[in-house]
Amino acid sequence: MTDVFVRVAIDQPMPVLFDYRYSLPADPIAGKLVLVPFGRREVVGLICEVLSTTDVPANKLRDVSNICVDCPPLSAQWIALASFAADYYQRGLGEVALPALPQALRDASRWERLLAVEERFSLLPAGRAEIHDVLPARATALRRLADALAAEKSLGLSDARALHPKAAAIFDEWLARGWIERAAAETPPPHESPTGAAQLPHLTDEQRDAVTAIAGAQGFAPFLLHGVTGSGKTEVYLHALAEMLSAQPDAQALVLVPEINLTPQFEAAFRARFAALAAGSIVTMHSGLAEGERARNWLAAHTGSARIVLGTRLAILASLPKLEMIVVDEEHDPAYKQQEGLRYSARDLAVYRAKQLDIPVVLGSATPSLETWWQAEQGRYTRLTLTRRAVADAALPVVRLVDLEEERQRGRASVEGLSGPLIAALKSRLERGEQSLVFLNRRGYAPILSCEACGWVAGCPRCSAYAVLHKPERALRCHHCGWESRIPKSCPECGNIDIAPMGRGTQRVEETLASVVPGARVLRIDADSTRRKGSAEALFSDVHAGEVDILVGTQMIAKGHDFRRVTLVGVLNADTALFSHDFRASERLFAQLTQVSGRAGRAGLPGEVLIQTRYPRHALYLALSRQDYVGFANATLAERRDARLPPFVYQAMLRAEGRTLEAAIAFLEEAAAAFAPLPGADRVTVYDPVPLTIVKVFNVHRAQLLLESGSRAALQSALRAWQPVLRSLKGVLRWNVEVDPLDV
Ligand code: ADP
Ligand code: ZN
Ligand code: ZN
Repeated sequence: MTDVFVRVAIDQPMPVLFDYRYSLPADPIAGKLVLVPFGRREVVGLICEVLSTTDVPANKLRDVSNICVDCPPLSAQWIALASFAADYYQRGLGEVALPALPQALRDASRWERLLAVEERFSLLPAGRAEIHDVLPARATALRRLADALAAEKSLGLSDARALHPKAAAIFDEWLARGWIERAAAETPPPHESPTGAAQLPHLTDEQRDAVTAIAGAQGFAPFLLHGVTGSGKTEVYLHALAEMLSAQPDAQALVLVPEINLTPQFEAAFRARFAALAAGSIVTMHSGLAEGERARNWLAAHTGSARIVLGTRLAILASLPKLEMIVVDEEHDPAYKQQEGLRYSARDLAVYRAKQLDIPVVLGSATPSLETWWQAEQGRYTRLTLTRRAVADAALPVVRLVDLEEERQRGRASVEGLSGPLIAALKSRLERGEQSLVFLNRRGYAPILSCEACGWVAGCPRCSAYAVLHKPERALRCHHCGWESRIPKSCPECGNIDIAPMGRGTQRVEETLASVVPGARVLRIDADSTRRKGSAEALFSDVHAGEVDILVGTQMIAKGHDFRRVTLVGVLNADTALFSHDFRASERLFAQLTQVSGRAGRAGLPGEVLIQTRYPRHALYLALSRQDYVGFANATLAERRDARLPPFVYQAMLRAEGRTLEAAIAFLEEAAAAFAPLPGADRVTVYDPVPLTIVKVFNVHRAQLLLESGSRAALQSALRAWQPVLRSLKGVLRWNVEVDPLDV
């Protein structure tokens, strides 16, 4: 017998694969999961290659302990996707592939239970003809079993056991008699349209054109679906998917959303529309699922029984052997960027995956990321535009800027940050029985608690950040590390009892609203009010049910909710983002304000947006009030081009965390020095190491080093060569490289 070896990917921070001897009875196949000894432990790995020789000396070779027989192998294409991601984001294949699997599969002790496929049986014509005559009349349990088989297309063994405890043995006998057969997992009947055609809305011309383009696409076809808020992008996805799924009866689709829990309507729309597909054809994938469910859903996708996977960013690495279309809703959303571990962009990987598989990918947004917009401008992505709202007589809301400076000069004081015009508008909505949103991107009661007498400010002892005052929770909290303490009664420095909150968060605005708009039912939605699982959904359903007059909240309220009765949106404190040092801040602000404004006037009632600002002539606000994304995007792209910023250059960031800032900076300086001689480095600009804005978090000091190049290839090859050097450097607690960083 000749020796067989396997090359295995393991979740270790090393860009190498590991060879093992393979001598188990089951055939080794690339893509199978195995259990292998690693150091003193045993870990689950992925076979990437089956070999007949290895360079590893025989005395160093260890044996594969177990192989996951029941799980079909991951495809070569999937391994290629993971390899691409590993390469692009400067990681090892194992660091990408293993974390992409559900936790339960990475625990070999759970393989058997997880993968026990339930056997199903169905009645054959012979059985239908004979079974009832042969069974004794008094054998009621047996007859019930036969009836159940006759009534269903197929019957699972566990259901059968519930009807008769000896079902397994009985089925063996019936199989032998030719009455029944083993049935495949339930599949939808082919050629039956997966949608109930009756209740579909009549598409607008713009929607129809978009659907036609997507459904008619051949091969790799990236689309930018640029549609104003409420233009019915979801309907376009649903139609395009329905056409594809009914034309290709075993095809699969992947639909990515930034956040599933905040947009239950989206999932509900999919489930309703595709209700005619077999049970279990739509599965979700997101971090909120219990482990068992996550594993089951992953397996459903992997084995092809799930036709549609609806998921958050992590679903981009799902195994989908029959994937034929990808949709990325709200493609601009920063939630598509994973900010720890493998720092990937699910949107970018979606485009790569579509290219790899030669299939269409639809990126939808009212405010596309400038990266995507630039691709469309160059003609690399096909642009599909929805300029109008889909619901008859729903117009885009009118945006008005409330000049806070002018209000002040005219002696019209704000009450606790709420301007006169906003208060008046809120009151008139209340009188008319309409709903309002007040948007403010800061949670807590006040960001600062300070003493006027001595200048003391409440800070987090572990972070270089203020502690935020939380009034209902009666606590000072750090939003960076979770530190919490009671609110001091007096100044800890000088004893002054007049310590006062400065600035405003959602809790304070909630309190103010209750007093300036008497009689209004005010509800706050932010990370604090929705901490308990499922509570966001419950709160949102109160809004939909009309039990709320004014909803105040952070960007959680801006996401894709289709509020039917909201006619007013008030925006507070947006100005701070105008002058951020982050060059993407204005792009994000424009997207957020468009998104939140888009909640108003969706169902025929005219909508109005009031933005309070000290800079009413700022170009961003002017573009916003003209609903002019295109103008804003092109002007911002021109600025980026002049300043040589992405998407006109490519960036990567090395971040280091040390016990002191000096240690972090020293590490980065050493790393920069080692970078210079690497291949490709001559075409990369290396900036000076700088501390992060919030330099200390949880007693760890953080600094970063930005690298930039006009050549993606040069940057990538230098980064690759840099990895071993970085691993050899000492002196910091942690470091990581991020390719295409979002926060610079
Ligand atoms: P977007 O995602 O573009 O903001 P949605 O997909 O949420 O917009 O659609 C907005 C509203 O318009 C939803 O209530 C949806 O049911 C409705 N809608 C979509 N298409 C049509 C149509 N063709 N006719 C009537 N209503 C539609
Ligand atoms: Zn004091
Ligand atoms: Zn802290």
